Amino acid sequence: CGIVGVTGRADTTNLLVNGLKKLEYRGYDSAGIYVSNANGEDHLVKAQGKIKNLEEKITDDVMGTTGIGHTRWATHGVPSIENAHPHFSEDHRFYLVHNGVIQNFKELKKDYLSEVTFQSDTDTEVVVQLIDRFAKAGMDTEQAFKKAISLLKDSSYAFVLMDRQLPETLFVAKNKSPLLIGVGEDFNVVCSDALAMINVTNQFVELHDGEVVKITPQSISISNLAGERIDRAPFTVDIDQ
Ligand code: GLU
Repeated sequence: CGIVGVTGRADTTNLLVNGLKKLEYRGYDSAGIYVSNANGEDHLVKAQGKIKNLEEKITDDVMGTTGIGHTRWATHGVPSIENAHPHFSEDHRFYLVHNGVIQNFKELKKDYLSEVTFQSDTDTEVVVQLIDRFAKAGMDTEQAFKKAISLLKDSSYAFVLMDRQLPETLFVAKNKSPLLIGVGEDFNVVCSDALAMINVTNQFVELHDGEVVKITPQSISISNLAGERIDRAPFTVDIDQ
């Protein structure tokens, strides 16, 4: 029910955890982060219950310059470490956080993923395994992400995806769930509520349903599912902190 993402900051882990804390008021049953650096070193940490429980599990070596974080409000699968986000593909190449509900996840699992060993009972994991499947079939990450999204029926989602092969890039998409991009100098962030990142930027770019965004520390490129490029200027968010 809460999402944060960061790329291009040495303090990524802290920004993710503090961002998740700002989203605490919305309620949640578990939380997790995934961080990586340009050398491909990465860490996944998840905990049940309060963000404080997650914080206690984050040791000093859990550092990265790009990462994603999530607070979960379970819709499919009990609250547990396995069902907490980020979810990952079988080969640990792709990591995904998701707010919302994938209505046709059972059908997708049956039609495309009968060979895959699942780690969780969530609707979300189906999407990350689909992306991996399409990547293995030769698509690049953005194509595989768009292809997976095109198969989701009547679903709501805010997604942030990471790929171990592109450790400084965030891939983002939304439908009927809020998600904003925060613009920085040589860094960029993503969040489901501007409150989570207002301490690092007050410049945000709105994202519309059906758009996919590729974000690096220096660039934000928005396109729609038809592949057309979209230019959108940021707006200023005013929040009393
Ligand atoms: N449907 C997903 C799950 O149950 C995401 C829930 C959420 O929005 O936190 O894991």
